[in-house]
Amino acid sequence: MSRSVTLIELLVFILMAGFFVAGYQGFAEGSSSLAWRLLGGTIGCSSVLVFILLCLGLHTLVFVGVPSRPVCKQGGCRSKDYAIKLVDKHVRLVCGCGDAYKRVGRRFMRVNNRRAEPYMIWRFPLGWRVDEGQGDKERVDQA
Ligand SMILES: [Zn+2]
Repeated sequence: MSRSVTLIELLVFILMAGFFVAGYQGFAEGSSSLAWRLLGGTIGCSSVLVFILLCLGLHTLVFVGVPSRPVCKQGGCRSKDYAIKLVDKHVRLVCGCGDAYKRVGRRFMRVNNRRAEPYMIWRFPLGWRVDEGQGDKERVDQA
């Protein structure tokens, strides 16, 4: 994990350096002033960061959800009200009401007596929708 992050950081650094040089040289065409070249370099440099932020934003919008968690089943808690806690040795998202949830991909499931029942699913661009899908179906029927 930390190795891959380091690799990505290195890649970003190389990209930023490359775009800095490109911007620096690009702005050197019309004007020989150092200030202009540095401005060009800065624009080139920051365009890499802007691009990365755009990609992250798009990824969040399509695959994660905005907000990243739906309102809880009892209707009282919002995305920021969930806390990550250990419940029965599993990592769960526990809302302010004390209900446990788990997230699998785009699905947000309520965990009740160790059974995961479908709750909400993120559907871009519609938003959070009631999940009529599988969840953990046979276990839900037993409940
Ligand atoms: Zn709640």
